[in-house]
Amino acid sequence: MKQVIVVGAGAAGIFAALAASSRGAGVQLFEKNDIVGKKMGITGKGRCNLTNTAPMTDFIARTPGHGKFLFSAYRAFSNEDLLRCVHQWGLATKEERGGRVFPRSDSAIEVRKLLYHRLQKQHVELHLNEGVLTVNHTDGGFSVRTEQGSYTADACIITTGGLSYPVTGSSGDGFHFAKKLGHTVTPLKPSLIPFTTEETWVRDLAGLSLRNVDVSLWKHGKKLASQFGEMLFTHTGVSGPVILMLSSQAAHKPKWEFPMQLRINLKPALTAETLDSRIQRDFQKYLRKQAGNGLQDLLPRRLIPYVLEQAEIPEQTLINQITRTQRQDLVTVLQAFSLTLTGTRPIEEAIVTAGGVSVREINPGTMESKKVQGLYFAGEVIDIDAFTGGYNLQAAFSTGYVAGCSAAEEEADQ
Ligand SMILES: Cc1cc2nc3c(=O)[nH]c(=O)nc-3n(C[C@H](O)[C@H](O)[C@H](O)COP(=O)(O)OP(=O)(O)OC[C@H]3O[C@@H](n4cnc5c(N)ncnc54)[C@H](O)[C@@H]3O)c2cc1C
Repeated sequence: MKQVIVVGAGAAGIFAALAASSRGAGVQLFEKNDIVGKKMGITGKGRCNLTNTAPMTDFIARTPGHGKFLFSAYRAFSNEDLLRCVHQWGLATKEERGGRVFPRSDSAIEVRKLLYHRLQKQHVELHLNEGVLTVNHTDGGFSVRTEQGSYTADACIITTGGLSYPVTGSSGDGFHFAKKLGHTVTPLKPSLIPFTTEETWVRDLAGLSLRNVDVSLWKHGKKLASQFGEMLFTHTGVSGPVILMLSSQAAHKPKWEFPMQLRINLKPALTAETLDSRIQRDFQKYLRKQAGNGLQDLLPRRLIPYVLEQAEIPEQTLINQITRTQRQDLVTVLQAFSLTLTGTRPIEEAIVTAGGVSVREINPGTMESKKVQGLYFAGEVIDIDAFTGGYNLQAAFSTGYVAGCSAAEEEADQ
């Protein structure tokens, strides 16, 4: 019987172990935590957005970190395959806005527990509380050392995750193992991460969310990228869905260096002319009041002083004293409210890590190392990362599945 060691029981490791054991391999799964899938338990704000119903081509398009590398893995184990599996195992799911799939119970813990029971049912030998210290390639295969002992196997699958949320166990061990085994690890960067801003006053707006805004990144007067949707002010900068997407795009553009400018079109549905007419109507309504009152129907109250400041209109100015030029400046600011981005929050706070074991050194059809026979990688330890929407977990499940199947079958092919 083929012996397979899997290092790390996250989304990728669990699926690798299940796939290998269902193909008849003896599987030992090592996890440094006392539970499996600790990170999975906090995904989707505790609800676990486990995949998306979008076509696989969309998955690839929404994976700025080497989406095309995942083509074969998605063909082998798609979102539909995943849902068929978890439904068979007893998990009811539901689809929400944007094709996002969640457990019907809204409980990520349910998913984690389901997978734990599945591992037990398939007799995967689970070593909890047993972090792997070293992985060595030997004549006969692999030897793995933990604090409790040494273990050998014919194949080894590294599924240790990235660098984000290290409290969940993903502290980058797999990158060290990969380097020692001769692999290239591309620069590790935070992705799906809030930006920090030069403007410290954002802290006064913390918690304020803006819906249906068009947010763009600029450098030296050139537009780099834009996203439409919802954003949020935080104590140190900006976050929310559109910001996370922009951070994901920026993680893959080394030339997009900070500082960069963020422009927020607060009223993207209106042209400058219609916005001006709208402001004129509102100003008529509040003619004898101060400038701030004239914007109360158009903007969240907390934002008004900062919009007026960028338009250089003192807040106390009476509306009937605002000049045409000032009103036009206001239109310009409403369409390009501006912030200076100084960087991102630390990688520990990122939803995913961009960078990792180079995809050039991994066979996309099997997840086997092109450098060391019998060595496999799956999940976030590989240089892959996607937008939010269930795409990262599906990438981990699919690559894990492929690695598990290939590791178990390797001997039969020889
Ligand atoms: C807050 C948050 C919310 C998220 N929400 C979503 C979401 O809703 N949908 C989505 O698609 N993606 C989401 N993601 C991303 C997703 O969780 C990850 O992409 C995915 O978990 C990666 O799976 P993985 O198995 O590669 O790594 P991980 O899930 O990080 O698992 C790696 C495992 O390896 C173990 N390990 C590490 N080193 C060792 C060692 N030396 N020995 C033994 N074990 C080791 C770790 O303890 C860990 O359990 C979220 C991420 C975060 C941080």
